[in-house]
Amino acid sequence: MRILIIEDEPELARHVSRALTRHGHLVEVRHDGNAGLQAGLTGTPDLIVLDLNLPGLNGLAVLAQLRQANSPARVIILTARGEVEHRVRGLKAGADDYLAKPFSLEELIARIEAMGRRGTAPTGSDLLQIADLVVDLPHRRVTRAGRSITLSPREFDVLQVLLQEPGRIFSRTELCERVWQRQHTYDTRTVEIFIARLRKKLDHDFPHALIHTVRGEGYSIRAPA
Ligand code: CA
Repeated sequence: MRILIIEDEPELARHVSRALTRHGHLVEVRHDGNAGLQAGLTGTPDLIVLDLNLPGLNGLAVLAQLRQANSPARVIILTARGEVEHRVRGLKAGADDYLAKPFSLEELIARIEAMGRRGTAPTGSDLLQIADLVVDLPHRRVTRAGRSITLSPREFDVLQVLLQEPGRIFSRTELCERVWQRQHTYDTRTVEIFIARLRKKLDHDFPHALIHTVRGEGYSIRAPA
């Protein structure tokens, strides 16, 4: 994968860069928000490791501009320990995953590899449809009522899991495991944020909602009755 690291702590950036290069990735590093945004927009990275606390443009602003430009890059944000609010804001702004500092390189590499795997996971049918929602799996394209909808990679992954069995209820824990492949740190808040992001894009402008919350159980997708 082509990976862009935007991190202003030189030591940390160097460690991460070395480790990812060792794992066969093509790595670029930028040390401030403006240079990072430029590299993200022009370098077409597959994945961006983005520190939130950056000189120049901060990480949230970088993320917002990347998503506004419909950058297809997957984004993992790095947050300072205990800054739950930053993590929530980052996920709401379009990040696909997060890692709290300090983190181990093994953990970061595991997350990155989990992302790569999902993106290329083999699937059954190429085209899934439910009511007026059509999902083209190989091209990761989504339309509803003929209107094109741009999803971030992880939003697409969540939708893809729900669509595997329309009408079935997926618990937050199960979604977390299937999408983020986390075995131990069940992070239900992240799942809630992604469901909210999907609803905003897929359901808000249409008369019938497709994504449903089943209180105390989880979420499902189904055609209107
Ligand atoms: Ca920093």
